[in-house]
Amino acid sequence: MNRNVATIPQDLIAALKKAKHVVVFTGAGVSAESGIPTFRDSLTGLWERFHAEDLATPGAFHKDKELVWGWYEWRRMKVSQAQPNPAHIAVATLATLVPKLTIVTQNVDDLHERAGSTDVLHLHGSLHSPRCATCGQAHILPPGIPVEPEGGRRSSPPVCICGGLVRPGVVWFGEDLPVRELRQAFEAAQKCDLLFAIGTSGLVQPAARIPSLAKQAGACVVQVNPTSTELDRECTWSVRGGAGEIMPNLLQAAFGPA
Ligand SMILES: [Zn+2]
Repeated sequence: MNRNVATIPQDLIAALKKAKHVVVFTGAGVSAESGIPTFRDSLTGLWERFHAEDLATPGAFHKDKELVWGWYEWRRMKVSQAQPNPAHIAVATLATLVPKLTIVTQNVDDLHERAGSTDVLHLHGSLHSPRCATCGQAHILPPGIPVEPEGGRRSSPPVCICGGLVRPGVVWFGEDLPVRELRQAFEAAQKCDLLFAIGTSGLVQPAARIPSLAKQAGACVVQVNPTSTELDRECTWSVRGGAGEIMPNLLQAAFGPA
């Protein structure tokens, strides 16, 4: 038994073995393990005098569409160049080992999908699903990875068939979370018997309610994170460490070698 398996509580392993409906709630820490910058990282190149919070707003897009669209295309390139890590793969595998699994993510990349997961609830939208800012029509991006200079560039957003401009398909500061995804996430949290909160600080509302809802409904809540967070008090178990190590070890402990 290696060190990491030893740190996983035996009663967590037992709970996972008999779980009927597992919810996996993921945040920026899971993407960071694939090398994707988080909002906490400072911006460089063309955007070095900005904070991420200043670019991810409807007002910023209104004021300087080329600056904001260029930033999102650069981010889409970074995500497309990144690969799912062992945590994404373990979550996709877990879906084949338990009767029901719901993935709820705060991440705007497609790494869960590229690891093989389906029906991922994206609470903050996606870099890969832009839409018209005027009529809401989905915009189909050209296939392949965008080619952007490392330091970024200004870039004009595409024009919709209605004449409106296309905007990133993410939820910006000051915007509401998508109603359908949020409702499905709350329902899953209230019906599950085991919820994993992985790589999320649990601070951003209303998504941060998801672990509390699960706990109130009687589910066990497991946190997997390298550091302590606001979620600690909601958790049945807190497992300290990178999800890319902990999740594969947990699966092996509960279900045997893959
Ligand atoms: Zn349109």
